[in-house]
Amino acid sequence: MVTGQRRLVLINPANTYRKGYLLRRQSKQVPLGLGIVAALTPPGWNIKILDENFREFRFRDADLVGITAMTATANRAYTIAAEYRAKGIPVVMGGIHASNLPEEALNHCDAIVSGEAEGAWERVIRDFEEGTLQKVYTSDLPDMKTSPPARHDLFHPGYLFASIQTSRGCPMDCDFCSVPAFNGHKYRLRDTDSVLDEIASVPNKLLYFVDDNIIGYNQTAEEHAIRLFEGMIRRNLRKEWFAQASFNIAEKPGILKLAARSGCRMLLIGIESENEDALRDTNKKINLKLGTSNYRKAFREIHQHGINVLGAFIYGMDSDTPGSLRNRTAYILGSSVDVTQASVMTPLPGTRLFTRMKEEGRILCDKFPEQWQHFHFSDVVFRPALMTPEELARGTDEAYRQITSMGTLRRKFIRTLWNTRSLRSAVWAWNSNLNYRSVGLEKDSAWKYGE
Ligand code: SF4
Repeated sequence: MVTGQRRLVLINPANTYRKGYLLRRQSKQVPLGLGIVAALTPPGWNIKILDENFREFRFRDADLVGITAMTATANRAYTIAAEYRAKGIPVVMGGIHASNLPEEALNHCDAIVSGEAEGAWERVIRDFEEGTLQKVYTSDLPDMKTSPPARHDLFHPGYLFASIQTSRGCPMDCDFCSVPAFNGHKYRLRDTDSVLDEIASVPNKLLYFVDDNIIGYNQTAEEHAIRLFEGMIRRNLRKEWFAQASFNIAEKPGILKLAARSGCRMLLIGIESENEDALRDTNKKINLKLGTSNYRKAFREIHQHGINVLGAFIYGMDSDTPGSLRNRTAYILGSSVDVTQASVMTPLPGTRLFTRMKEEGRILCDKFPEQWQHFHFSDVVFRPALMTPEELARGTDEAYRQITSMGTLRRKFIRTLWNTRSLRSAVWAWNSNLNYRSVGLEKDSAWKYGE
């Protein structure tokens, strides 16, 4: 550190109750937001990221502390914040949880950044330097053309995947999703040359595009994705990657072809349910538009390009019964979905689902902030509409057991190999399934919260 430099410590807390995706190196995700905050910090600051994804927090002296948190890590964030504040070191919190529950977060820190960091973090630093730190910093949704690339050099070197963001926002409005509230409904796209430079700068061979839909839902977003994939091919970047997408990508063979040539191995699609009533419950319009009877054809289109499908499913929609949970599991086992992410419905603050369940008195796990640690998509934290919490917990335990059994994983591997004709894709699917298996093995049975 250069003498006279101020010290900024940025912290990524982990859930101490459940390790989840931290159990395997393959499924750890970089705290991208902290890398962007670091990039927005002016010269003259020495910046360090303390990342509990790799090592439990140990106090490190600082002039200013920034902590990010999702709902499931909020309580841990507050514990760490208390340690700094007890020593008189100011703490600024940001991220999706503090943005959605600013009053709660302000009980535990000195200031919050509500919403995206660009345009707000620069003012935090300026005010801190002038001794006039305010309590709340907000900014309009920034134009991503001017967003700086994240400081990947500050992330822990143990991450297998580099995270890259090419756009923000989602025009859809799914009931359970906090993305529109945080990033808005309008697509904001980064300059593709800047994204390509960022990709070229990271040493990781493996990439995760964190966008909510890598090709978006309109022509401008599609053209943006095409420029990105063509640029990766032209520059011979030799990366392998996966991204989140929606079913609309299955209708774009030209884009799928380019995606595959640029290194795409897997697409995460929010399938949520095979049952249209459940899709209606959650306002999942894009899947309803396709129709569940066309899922199979969509998987085939994606497979034809050597790309495997990571299907995200939800257990615990309002129309779900114990029988429909069994049907969902049977559908997953019988379908050509290659990798399964099965989540328990979780009402996150900032979503319509949370507001509705709170009004209806259905949030059972409500001793906050301590019980935020259960909002990690494996525990039942609410009262389902058509079954008991115990039935939902048992149903998802049974689903995890079947979906992640070694027998299922072996069968899925052979099927993926057959469908994609790509050993790389099948190995990707195998590894991803092992990630979910370890999450499943950690999951304990029975519903026991909120008594
Ligand atoms: S779940 Fe996906 S499609 Fe739905 S609002 Fe969230 S990001 Fe958009």
